[in-house]
Amino acid sequence: MYKFAIVGGGFGGLVSAIKLKDFVLFEKSKILGGCGGYFIRNNLVFNSGATTIAFMGKNEFVYQFFESFGIKLDFKEHKLAFDIIDVQDNKVFNFKEVINSNEKIFEKIYYNPLALMKFLFDFLKVSNLNEYEKHALIISLQSSKTPFEIFKKLSYDYYLSTWAIFKEGFKNLIESIEQRIISNGEIIKECEVVKIKKLSNYFEIETTNGIYKAKNVILNLDPWNVNRILGKNLLKLPKENNLWHALVLYLSWKVKPLKNYYYLILDRNLKTIHAPFVSFFENGTITISAHYKNYYNEKEIDHLLNVLKSMNIEFQLITIANSKSFEKYTGRYKGYVGGFEMSYINLISSFLRGLKKDGIYFMGDYYFPGQSLASSIIRAKWLL
Ligand SMILES: Cc1cc2nc3c(=O)[nH]c(=O)nc-3n(C[C@H](O)[C@H](O)[C@H](O)COP(=O)(O)OP(=O)(O)OC[C@H]3O[C@@H](n4cnc5c(N)ncnc54)[C@H](O)[C@@H]3O)c2cc1C
Repeated sequence: MYKFAIVGGGFGGLVSAIKLKDFVLFEKSKILGGCGGYFIRNNLVFNSGATTIAFMGKNEFVYQFFESFGIKLDFKEHKLAFDIIDVQDNKVFNFKEVINSNEKIFEKIYYNPLALMKFLFDFLKVSNLNEYEKHALIISLQSSKTPFEIFKKLSYDYYLSTWAIFKEGFKNLIESIEQRIISNGEIIKECEVVKIKKLSNYFEIETTNGIYKAKNVILNLDPWNVNRILGKNLLKLPKENNLWHALVLYLSWKVKPLKNYYYLILDRNLKTIHAPFVSFFENGTITISAHYKNYYNEKEIDHLLNVLKSMNIEFQLITIANSKSFEKYTGRYKGYVGGFEMSYINLISSFLRGLKKDGIYFMGDYYFPGQSLASSIIRAKWLL
């Protein structure tokens, strides 16, 4: 009998395991990390989904969380956030600079809700700002001196904080976490949890490897899978029309890229593929991760690759993942990735949605909006 059974070895499950003792962690894949994991192809290590880890400066909370549990991470500090490539205007500008240069305007009006609403309405309507600049402004507005410190931490501060560059993407990160957590519990990979039954004072966990028992259960799964595994509708399901699929292109490069490691492509010709984010890694790989709602137009992929070519980058396309791949490898229902966008309402509703119920804890990005690892750490601090 274990004290805790953790289902799912994504960031939410890993952070839980760092905090706990006497646990068993079940992961259905060969590799831990889920949407923040990695895979190896053509002898190259690729990040599967997430590419940025923020708050990794020596005085910042994600770094300090790892340090407090004795997890030594080998990474390079990155303070430049990302650059935005405005394809039509042929301009490149830094997101962090946009936020910094507008912060003062917002601090003045922040404490007057009417002025704020009017300002937002008028300003965003008539301004010549492009959609990313508007986004940056809204983020800085929402977060300056807000009493919701957590909200602030996960939005605007994300871009201003120090990010981590790992040499082989998240392979180093996952392996360092894994090494640390095996001293306090057991990790069982390639083991899918299929059913969980609550008995008088423990849970019976049916897996593809056999039956296990635990006093407490932490489910690091989306709410559809939670309900399926429990065989009842314990959690209210989110509205599907607000959710996103991921599209990721995995490439390799030969020549050291430009000044930054991260670029957001702003291209008004992309209609079905949203916010493509290009990440360069020092091991010679690139990922371009983007979102789509119901479908994407294949031609827009060529378009994206042409943008890279226009940046004089010599690359090779290795493979592509979409919602089907994410559903297959991470078990995400219909391949929906990411939880909810950060807004006050989502913060409150997802927090309520994820309160401990029937003796079960809920971790992962469906239960706390924000940036994966950072939000998992905040949630684990509160909850576990
Ligand atoms: C393309 C993309 C880009 C992103 N970019 C960033 C970024 O740059 N920065 C950032 O902070 N965040 C980013 N995110 C978000 C971030 O990756 C996620 O928020 C985070 O990884 C979610 O972690 P999780 O633990 O909640 O869920 P998951 O990563 O989905 O973990 C769930 C785990 O459970 C396992 N599992 C599922 N069912 C079972 C079962 N029945 N039994 C056992 N195991 C099971 C899965 O295999 C998986 O490992 C990105 C996400 C995507 C998809």
